[in-house]
Amino acid sequence: MNPTVTAVVALGSNLDDPEAHVKRAFADLARLPETWVTARSALYRTAPVGYADQPAFVNACARIETRLAPRALLDGLLAIERRHGRVRDVPNGPRTLDLDIVLYGGATIDGPGLSVPHPRAHERAFVLAPLVDVWPQAVIPGKGTARELLETIGMEGVQPLVIPAPDQGARGQASAAIHVGSRLRGNDDKRGNDDK
Ligand code: AMP
Repeated sequence: MNPTVTAVVALGSNLDDPEAHVKRAFADLARLPETWVTARSALYRTAPVGYADQPAFVNACARIETRLAPRALLDGLLAIERRHGRVRDVPNGPRTLDLDIVLYGGATIDGPGLSVPHPRAHERAFVLAPLVDVWPQAVIPGKGTARELLETIGMEGVQPLVIPAPDQGARGQASAAIHVGSRLRGNDDKRGNDDK
């Protein structure tokens, strides 16, 4: 049996109700074999990077415990992307769902079709902000702590997505807003196919 490894998956969407795609993708991750979602970040609305002429993204991160080897995990993520109708036409262009392995334990992987840590994670606030949510002490091998990297880069173009608190209705004030997404605690919240 493979050892259990703590990994982080970045989620992103900017097509066809991005918030819904990201929320569904959290549930899809929890259904991967030998995999448990142990923390979900807040959702962030983020400005597109690179190819700017496209809608804003919703980004998030999931912290998982998994016994899947890195390539099996990647295959699982690509299958989830396909089920969300992902089409690859414009590089860095609009997508219904993008799932990336940001961290896989402390491993460094540099193989065909798989680079971990994700090569651009350390320079992207839309990855680092949710990464710090789910793993405040996360270290990106060879780059430093996610928290320090985020402090250096700043949060420009990255805003937590907030919803009005239930008793505030549509006129809810910012002070009453609550973050979408939550951190799961302890083993009680671990879910995977094993439990079904
Ligand atoms: P994209 O969806 O445009 O981010 O590209 C997905 C492709 O990037 C996948 O088919 C993988 O082969 C490759 N890739 C390389 N490293 C990673 C990673 N850490 N996580 C996800 N995909 C990766």
